[in-house]
Amino acid sequence: MYNKFIAEDLVMSEQIERIKTLIVGSGPAGYTAAIYASRADLKPVMYTGMEPGGQLTTTTEVDNFPGYPEGIDGPTMMVQLQKQAERFGTEVRIGMVTAVEFSDEIGGIHKVTVDDSKLIEAETVIISTGATAKYLNIPSEQRLRGGGVSACAVCDGFFYKNQEVAIVGAGDTAAEEASYLANICKKVTMLVRKDHMRASKAMQHRVNNLDNIEIKYNTEVDEVLGEQVVEGLRMVNNQTGEKEDIAITGLFIAIGHKPNTDIFKGQLKMDETGYIITEGKSTKTNKPGVFASGDVQDKEYRQAVTAAGTGCMAALDAERYLASIESEETVVS
Ligand SMILES: Cc1cc2nc3c(=O)[nH]c(=O)nc-3n(C[C@H](O)[C@H](O)[C@H](O)COP(=O)(O)OP(=O)(O)OC[C@H]3O[C@@H](n4cnc5c(N)ncnc54)[C@H](O)[C@@H]3O)c2cc1C
Repeated sequence: MYNKFIAEDLVMSEQIERIKTLIVGSGPAGYTAAIYASRADLKPVMYTGMEPGGQLTTTTEVDNFPGYPEGIDGPTMMVQLQKQAERFGTEVRIGMVTAVEFSDEIGGIHKVTVDDSKLIEAETVIISTGATAKYLNIPSEQRLRGGGVSACAVCDGFFYKNQEVAIVGAGDTAAEEASYLANICKKVTMLVRKDHMRASKAMQHRVNNLDNIEIKYNTEVDEVLGEQVVEGLRMVNNQTGEKEDIAITGLFIAIGHKPNTDIFKGQLKMDETGYIITEGKSTKTNKPGVFASGDVQDKEYRQAVTAAGTGCMAALDAERYLASIESEETVVS
């Protein structure tokens, strides 16, 4: 909810800045939007949020982003994207958007508060705030993130080719990722907390039909074993308390993602899980001049390259929106 009280204070303190394009978030979607927007002379300002560079800064190796034949580590790739965006004039600022008030009118000005203290008035806003993968939040899992614990099977499964891995989760995504891993890995142990899976019947059927997937019901992670890298998993049966160790090299957590959209609630149309809804094949939201790109509007693919693709679309949509307003103003005058 936009804080009118803060806005009034800001007007008094003259901290308001008027810009053409504001980009919220500094992952692959935000930086790609920034590259396109700055080359189109929209003079974008980007706020990075709490995680400059986004989710890829939490991973070591990115092997599937086109243009890097030897692969690249996530943080380096994001620094390169930042440099590319800055080369064309994007102003990258550290800061968190804390409140928004989007206009309903075509050509209206969108008001955005940063760090509860600065007010930006923007003609267009590109939202690229991403999504956060949920983890179990047990100490051994957190310690081994990037050392064999991953929240993205499509991203990291390849590194465990012909090895034994485990996956935690019981929904459609977990079932999808378990089947993906089963094609690459020697064996996949799937831990399901309840005595049944939440996934659709079709997905359950697919998982059950793969010989190298073993499903353990009523089973949870007790501890991830290994010092520097994952070497095994201690599982616990939540009915009997019985513990069992297995040797694995990779553990995939597939218990869902949370889109970073809390500050846009009540302003933008979202689906039941909080992902921003965009119009058709565009990045347009229900507010004119506000666009959404990347994982914040995509629960299907969630890849750096798809995020970058929609970042490009958002900048082009913003540019066309501004051009259409300018041409209407010319006709009227
Ligand atoms: C462990 C792991 C490994 C992965 N490996 C790969 C891989 O190898 N290949 C691949 O293609 N994909 C990989 N992915 C997926 C990929 O990282 C995401 O699909 C991609 O980063 C999404 O980009 P994005 O720009 O939409 O958002 P994100 O990367 O999630 O970035 C979101 C940005 O928004 C900012 N933000 C959030 N809220 C605010 C706010 N209120 N104000 C300002 N800024 C805000 C954050 O600080 C962050 O900078 C991996 C993901 C994980 C978790």
